[in-house]
Amino acid sequence: MKVWQVVAPRELEQVRLSQKDVEVDGIVKIRTSLVGLSFCDIKMFMGDSVSVDKAYPFSLGTKAVGVISDDAHNFKRGQRVVVDPFIACGSCYMCKTQTVNKQGNVNCSDVQTYINVLGGGLLSDFAYVPVTNLYELPSSIKDEDAIFAEYIALGLNALSQISLEKAEYVAIFGGGITGNILAQLVLYYQAVPIIIDDDEHKLEIAKAHGVYYTVNAKTENVQSKIREITSSRGAEVGVYIASSNLDLGDMLGSMDEYGRVCILGTEYNKQYLNVSLTQILSRQLNVLGVKSGYGFMAQAINILANKAVNLTGLTREVVQFKDVPKVLEKLAGESVPQYKTVVKT
Ligand SMILES: [Zn+2]
Repeated sequence: MKVWQVVAPRELEQVRLSQKDVEVDGIVKIRTSLVGLSFCDIKMFMGDSVSVDKAYPFSLGTKAVGVISDDAHNFKRGQRVVVDPFIACGSCYMCKTQTVNKQGNVNCSDVQTYINVLGGGLLSDFAYVPVTNLYELPSSIKDEDAIFAEYIALGLNALSQISLEKAEYVAIFGGGITGNILAQLVLYYQAVPIIIDDDEHKLEIAKAHGVYYTVNAKTENVQSKIREITSSRGAEVGVYIASSNLDLGDMLGSMDEYGRVCILGTEYNKQYLNVSLTQILSRQLNVLGVKSGYGFMAQAINILANKAVNLTGLTREVVQFKDVPKVLEKLAGESVPQYKTVVKT
Protein backbone atom coordinates (compact mmCIF):
# COMPACT_ATOMS: atom_id res chain seq x y z
CA MET A 1 0.00 0.00 0.00
CA LYS A 2 1.11 3.54 -0.78
CA VAL A 3 1.27 5.73 2.31
CA TRP A 4 2.20 9.37 2.84
CA GLN A 5 4.49 9.53 5.87
CA VAL A 6 5.79 12.56 7.71
CA VAL A 7 9.58 12.17 7.89
CA ALA A 8 10.37 15.59 9.41
CA PRO A 9 8.31 18.72 10.17
CA ARG A 10 6.57 19.78 6.93
CA GLU A 11 8.21 16.98 4.98
CA LEU A 12 6.28 14.09 3.44
CA GLU A 13 7.52 10.99 1.71
CA GLN A 14 5.51 8.37 -0.11
CA VAL A 15 6.42 4.88 1.08
CA ARG A 16 5.15 1.37 0.42
CA LEU A 17 4.10 -0.67 3.44
CA SER A 18 2.81 -4.21 3.66
CA GLN A 19 0.58 -5.99 6.14
CA LYS A 20 3.55 -7.04 8.26
CA ASP A 21 4.30 -3.36 8.95
CA VAL A 22 1.01 -3.03 10.83
CA GLU A 23 1.44 -4.49 14.28
CA VAL A 24 -1.90 -6.05 15.20
CA ASP A 25 -4.10 -9.14 14.97
CA GLY A 26 -7.67 -9.12 13.71
CA ILE A 27 -7.17 -6.65 10.90
CA VAL A 28 -9.11 -6.24 7.67
CA LYS A 29 -7.70 -4.82 4.44
CA ILE A 30 -9.68 -1.96 2.94
CA ARG A 31 -9.29 0.04 -0.25
CA THR A 32 -9.79 3.61 0.91
CA SER A 33 -12.11 5.83 -1.15
CA LEU A 34 -11.96 9.15 0.70
CA VAL A 35 -9.70 10.31 3.51
CA GLY A 36 -10.43 13.50 5.44
CA LEU A 37 -7.60 15.76 6.54
CA SER A 38 -8.24 17.07 10.04
CA PHE A 39 -6.75 19.92 12.04
CA CYS A 40 -4.83 17.27 13.99
CA ASP A 41 -3.28 15.94 10.75
CA ILE A 42 -2.19 19.44 9.81
CA LYS A 43 -0.65 20.05 13.24
CA MET A 44 1.13 16.67 13.09
CA PHE A 45 2.45 17.53 9.63
CA MET A 46 3.79 20.81 11.04
CA GLY A 47 5.39 19.05 14.03
CA ASP A 48 3.16 21.17 16.22
CA SER A 49 0.49 18.82 17.60
CA VAL A 50 -0.48 19.04 21.28
CA SER A 51 -2.33 15.72 21.19
CA VAL A 52 0.12 13.51 19.34
CA ASP A 53 3.78 13.13 20.09
CA LYS A 54 5.27 10.59 17.72
CA ALA A 55 8.72 9.64 16.55
CA TYR A 56 9.39 10.16 12.84
CA PRO A 57 8.43 8.78 10.43
CA PHE A 58 4.68 8.42 10.99
CA SER A 59 1.52 8.27 8.92
CA LEU A 60 -1.42 10.67 8.93
CA GLY A 61 -5.18 10.28 8.56
CA THR A 62 -7.87 9.31 11.08
CA LYS A 63 -10.99 9.76 8.95
CA ALA A 64 -11.65 7.38 6.08
CA VAL A 65 -14.30 5.57 4.14
CA GLY A 66 -13.56 2.71 1.81
CA VAL A 67 -14.51 -0.76 0.63
CA ILE A 68 -13.46 -4.14 1.97
CA SER A 69 -10.61 -5.43 -0.17
CA ASP A 70 -10.55 -9.11 0.84
CA ASP A 71 -13.16 -11.18 2.68
CA ALA A 72 -12.21 -11.21 6.33
CA HIS A 73 -14.01 -11.88 9.61
CA ASN A 74 -17.65 -10.91 8.98
CA PHE A 75 -16.86 -8.54 6.14
CA LYS A 76 -17.21 -9.35 2.46
CA ARG A 77 -15.15 -7.96 -0.41
CA GLY A 78 -16.77 -4.82 -1.86
CA GLN A 79 -18.74 -3.84 1.27
CA ARG A 80 -18.60 -0.10 1.99
CA VAL A 81 -17.26 0.81 5.41
CA VAL A 82 -16.33 3.78 7.54
CA VAL A 83 -13.39 3.55 9.95
CA ASP A 84 -13.90 4.26 13.64
CA PRO A 85 -10.54 5.81 14.57
CA PHE A 86 -10.93 5.48 18.34
CA ILE A 87 -9.18 2.78 20.36
CA ALA A 88 -9.03 2.27 24.12
CA CYS A 89 -5.44 2.65 25.32
CA GLY A 90 -5.33 -0.75 27.02
CA SER A 91 -3.05 0.46 29.79
CA CYS A 92 -5.03 2.88 31.98
CA TYR A 93 -6.79 1.76 35.18
CA MET A 94 -10.21 1.67 33.45
CA CYS A 95 -8.88 -0.49 30.60
CA LYS A 96 -7.07 -2.86 32.95
CA THR A 97 -10.16 -3.33 35.11
CA GLN A 98 -12.49 -3.42 32.06
CA THR A 99 -14.73 -0.77 33.62
CA VAL A 100 -17.53 0.02 31.14
CA ASN A 101 -19.52 3.23 30.61
CA LYS A 102 -23.23 3.57 29.86
CA GLN A 103 -22.64 2.75 26.17
CA GLY A 104 -21.07 -0.55 27.22
CA ASN A 105 -17.56 0.49 26.15
CA VAL A 106 -14.50 0.23 28.30
CA ASN A 107 -14.43 3.63 29.93
CA CYS A 108 -10.85 4.34 28.87
CA SER A 109 -9.46 7.53 30.35
CA ASP A 110 -6.91 7.93 27.57
CA VAL A 111 -8.63 7.05 24.31
CA GLN A 112 -6.20 6.99 21.41
CA THR A 113 -6.82 7.01 17.73
CA TYR A 114 -5.96 4.07 15.52
CA ILE A 115 -3.17 6.12 14.03
CA ASN A 116 -1.57 6.66 17.42
CA VAL A 117 -1.69 3.15 18.70
CA LEU A 118 -0.94 1.15 15.59
CA GLY A 119 0.93 3.62 13.47
CA GLY A 120 -1.23 2.60 10.52
CA GLY A 121 -2.61 5.91 9.44
CA LEU A 122 -5.34 6.05 6.85
CA LEU A 123 -3.79 8.47 4.39
CA SER A 124 -3.01 5.64 1.99
CA ASP A 125 -4.56 3.79 -0.94
CA PHE A 126 -5.08 0.64 1.12
CA ALA A 127 -5.22 0.33 4.89
CA TYR A 128 -5.24 -2.47 7.44
CA VAL A 129 -7.83 -1.70 10.10
CA PRO A 130 -8.79 -3.64 13.25
CA VAL A 131 -12.05 -5.45 12.55
CA THR A 132 -13.63 -3.88 15.63
CA ASN A 133 -12.99 -0.42 14.15
CA LEU A 134 -14.98 -0.98 10.94
CA TYR A 135 -18.64 -0.14 10.45
CA GLU A 136 -20.66 -1.10 7.39
CA LEU A 137 -22.22 1.87 5.62
CA PRO A 138 -25.85 1.66 4.52
CA SER A 139 -26.26 2.55 0.82
CA SER A 140 -28.29 5.63 1.82
CA ILE A 141 -25.15 7.30 3.22
CA LYS A 142 -22.80 8.78 0.64
CA ASP A 143 -19.01 8.53 1.10
CA GLU A 144 -18.68 12.31 1.22
CA ASP A 145 -21.10 12.45 4.17
CA ALA A 146 -19.70 9.38 5.97
CA ILE A 147 -16.33 11.12 6.20
CA PHE A 148 -17.96 13.37 8.85
CA ALA A 149 -18.98 10.45 11.09
CA GLU A 150 -16.13 11.08 13.54
CA TYR A 151 -17.28 14.68 14.11
CA ILE A 152 -20.80 13.45 14.80
CA ALA A 153 -19.45 10.86 17.25
CA LEU A 154 -17.46 13.60 18.99
CA GLY A 155 -20.57 15.78 19.28
CA LEU A 156 -22.69 12.90 20.57
CA ASN A 157 -20.11 12.12 23.24
CA ALA A 158 -20.07 15.77 24.35
CA LEU A 159 -23.87 15.94 24.59
CA SER A 160 -23.96 12.68 26.50
CA GLN A 161 -21.28 13.80 28.96
CA ILE A 162 -23.01 17.13 29.49
CA SER A 163 -26.44 15.43 29.93
CA LEU A 164 -28.25 17.78 27.55
CA GLU A 165 -31.93 18.27 28.25
CA LYS A 166 -34.68 19.49 25.95
CA ALA A 167 -35.14 23.26 25.55
CA GLU A 168 -31.80 24.13 27.14
CA TYR A 169 -29.71 26.89 25.59
CA VAL A 170 -26.33 25.63 24.38
CA ALA A 171 -23.75 28.33 23.64
CA ILE A 172 -21.26 26.84 21.18
CA PHE A 173 -18.02 28.78 20.86
CA GLY A 174 -16.64 27.89 17.43
CA GLY A 175 -18.69 27.59 14.25
CA GLY A 176 -16.35 25.39 12.18
CA ILE A 177 -17.17 21.79 11.34
CA THR A 178 -17.26 20.51 14.93
CA GLY A 179 -19.36 23.43 16.19
CA ASN A 180 -21.70 23.36 13.21
CA ILE A 181 -22.39 19.63 13.50
CA LEU A 182 -22.75 19.87 17.27
CA ALA A 183 -25.34 22.67 16.87
CA GLN A 184 -27.35 20.47 14.51
CA LEU A 185 -27.24 17.62 17.03
CA VAL A 186 -28.47 20.04 19.70
CA LEU A 187 -31.43 20.88 17.42
CA TYR A 188 -32.01 17.16 16.82
CA TYR A 189 -32.31 16.67 20.60
CA GLN A 190 -34.75 19.60 20.79
CA ALA A 191 -32.51 22.06 22.58
CA VAL A 192 -31.50 25.55 21.41
CA PRO A 193 -28.00 26.15 19.99
CA ILE A 194 -26.33 29.56 19.88
CA ILE A 195 -23.21 29.63 17.69
CA ILE A 196 -20.50 32.17 18.43
CA ASP A 197 -17.70 32.79 15.91
CA ASP A 198 -15.71 35.69 14.54
CA ASP A 199 -16.16 34.49 10.94
CA GLU A 200 -19.44 35.65 9.41
CA HIS A 201 -19.22 33.00 6.67
CA LYS A 202 -19.32 30.20 9.25
CA LEU A 203 -22.32 31.84 10.92
CA GLU A 204 -24.10 32.03 7.54
CA ILE A 205 -23.58 28.30 6.96
CA ALA A 206 -24.88 27.57 10.48
CA LYS A 207 -27.98 29.65 9.76
CA ALA A 208 -28.52 27.75 6.51
CA HIS A 209 -28.35 24.56 8.60
CA GLY A 210 -31.18 25.74 10.83
CA VAL A 211 -29.32 27.46 13.68
CA TYR A 212 -31.48 30.46 14.59
CA TYR A 213 -29.17 32.24 17.05
CA THR A 214 -25.68 33.27 15.96
CA VAL A 215 -23.32 35.82 17.48
CA ASN A 216 -20.43 37.43 15.63
CA ALA A 217 -17.62 37.74 18.19
CA LYS A 218 -15.89 40.33 16.05
CA THR A 219 -18.77 42.80 15.79
CA GLU A 220 -21.01 42.05 18.78
CA ASN A 221 -20.64 41.99 22.56
CA VAL A 222 -20.80 38.23 23.05
CA GLN A 223 -21.79 38.14 26.72
CA SER A 224 -24.56 40.71 26.48
CA LYS A 225 -25.88 39.14 23.26
CA ILE A 226 -26.13 35.72 24.92
CA ARG A 227 -27.83 37.27 27.97
CA GLU A 228 -30.29 38.95 25.60
CA ILE A 229 -31.08 35.66 23.81
CA THR A 230 -31.52 33.78 27.10
CA SER A 231 -33.73 36.43 28.78
CA SER A 232 -30.72 37.56 30.85
CA ARG A 233 -30.19 34.18 32.55
CA GLY A 234 -27.23 32.99 30.53
CA ALA A 235 -26.84 29.63 28.77
CA GLU A 236 -27.39 26.41 30.74
CA VAL A 237 -24.76 24.64 28.64
CA GLY A 238 -21.60 25.98 27.03
CA VAL A 239 -19.32 24.12 24.63
CA TYR A 240 -15.95 25.60 23.80
CA ILE A 241 -14.40 24.13 20.65
CA ALA A 242 -10.77 23.82 21.73
CA SER A 243 -9.34 24.87 18.35
CA SER A 244 -11.66 27.88 17.92
CA ASN A 245 -9.22 30.44 19.39
CA LEU A 246 -12.20 32.38 20.79
CA ASP A 247 -12.29 34.01 24.23
CA LEU A 248 -12.93 31.26 26.79
CA GLY A 249 -13.58 33.92 29.43
CA ASP A 250 -16.47 35.14 27.27
CA MET A 251 -18.02 31.70 27.43
CA LEU A 252 -17.69 31.36 31.20
CA GLY A 253 -19.14 34.86 31.52
CA SER A 254 -22.15 33.88 29.38
CA MET A 255 -23.20 30.95 31.54
CA ASP A 256 -26.19 30.60 33.82
CA GLU A 257 -25.64 29.79 37.51
CA TYR A 258 -24.77 26.04 37.82
CA GLY A 259 -24.13 25.96 34.06
CA ARG A 260 -22.36 22.95 32.52
CA VAL A 261 -19.34 23.64 30.38
CA CYS A 262 -17.53 21.31 27.97
CA ILE A 263 -14.13 21.95 26.38
CA LEU A 264 -14.25 19.90 23.18
CA GLY A 265 -11.63 18.63 20.75
CA THR A 266 -8.06 17.36 20.58
CA GLU A 267 -6.08 20.28 19.19
CA TYR A 268 -5.78 23.77 20.64
CA ASN A 269 -3.49 26.73 20.98
CA LYS A 270 -2.40 26.87 24.61
CA GLN A 271 -2.73 30.61 25.10
CA TYR A 272 -6.48 30.51 24.47
CA LEU A 273 -7.09 27.92 27.18
CA ASN A 274 -5.38 29.91 29.90
CA VAL A 275 -8.23 31.44 31.80
CA SER A 276 -9.02 32.68 35.28
CA LEU A 277 -11.04 30.16 37.30
CA THR A 278 -12.93 32.82 39.25
CA GLN A 279 -15.94 32.67 36.89
CA ILE A 280 -16.21 28.91 37.49
CA LEU A 281 -16.46 29.51 41.23
CA SER A 282 -18.65 32.62 41.14
CA ARG A 283 -21.23 30.92 38.89
CA GLN A 284 -20.63 27.44 40.38
CA LEU A 285 -20.06 25.95 36.93
CA ASN A 286 -19.37 22.32 36.12
CA VAL A 287 -16.53 22.01 33.64
CA LEU A 288 -15.46 18.90 31.75
CA GLY A 289 -13.29 18.03 28.80
CA VAL A 290 -14.14 15.73 25.87
CA LYS A 291 -11.54 14.89 23.25
CA SER A 292 -12.92 11.93 21.34
CA GLY A 293 -16.08 10.33 20.03
CA TYR A 294 -15.05 6.95 21.38
CA GLY A 295 -18.05 4.60 21.63
CA PHE A 296 -20.38 6.74 19.51
CA MET A 297 -19.60 5.70 15.92
CA ALA A 298 -22.61 3.37 15.54
CA GLN A 299 -24.92 6.12 16.77
CA ALA A 300 -23.19 8.60 14.46
CA ILE A 301 -23.94 6.35 11.47
CA ASN A 302 -27.59 6.24 12.58
CA ILE A 303 -27.67 10.03 12.66
CA LEU A 304 -26.30 10.09 9.10
CA ALA A 305 -28.82 7.47 7.94
CA ASN A 306 -31.63 9.56 9.45
CA LYS A 307 -30.35 12.62 7.55
CA ALA A 308 -30.40 14.45 10.89
CA VAL A 309 -27.43 16.64 9.99
CA ASN A 310 -26.95 18.78 6.90
CA LEU A 311 -23.34 18.65 5.72
CA THR A 312 -23.72 21.00 2.76
CA GLY A 313 -20.95 23.55 2.58
CA LEU A 314 -18.64 21.84 5.07
CA THR A 315 -16.30 20.32 2.47
CA ARG A 316 -13.96 22.87 0.99
CA GLU A 317 -12.31 20.80 -1.69
CA VAL A 318 -11.61 17.28 -2.83
CA VAL A 319 -7.97 16.81 -3.78
CA GLN A 320 -5.98 14.00 -5.38
CA PHE A 321 -3.73 11.64 -3.41
CA LYS A 322 -0.62 12.74 -5.32
CA ASP A 323 -1.25 16.38 -4.35
CA VAL A 324 -1.27 15.75 -0.56
CA PRO A 325 2.15 17.38 0.18
CA LYS A 326 1.17 20.55 -1.71
CA VAL A 327 -2.25 20.67 -0.03
CA LEU A 328 -0.89 20.14 3.50
CA GLU A 329 1.68 22.87 2.98
CA LYS A 330 -1.14 25.23 1.99
CA LEU A 331 -3.30 24.22 4.98
CA ALA A 332 -0.32 24.66 7.32
CA GLY A 333 -0.27 28.32 6.37
CA GLU A 334 -3.75 28.89 7.84
CA SER A 335 -4.33 29.49 11.56
CA VAL A 336 -7.49 27.38 11.76
CA PRO A 337 -8.62 25.44 8.70
CA GLN A 338 -12.09 26.56 7.70
CA TYR A 339 -13.65 23.45 6.23
CA LYS A 340 -12.82 19.90 5.41
CA THR A 341 -10.30 18.99 2.75
CA VAL A 342 -10.92 15.47 1.47
CA VAL A 343 -8.39 13.33 -0.34
CA LYS A 344 -9.59 11.02 -3.12
CA THR A 345 -7.38 7.97 -2.89
ZN1 LIG B 1 -7.43 3.13 28.66
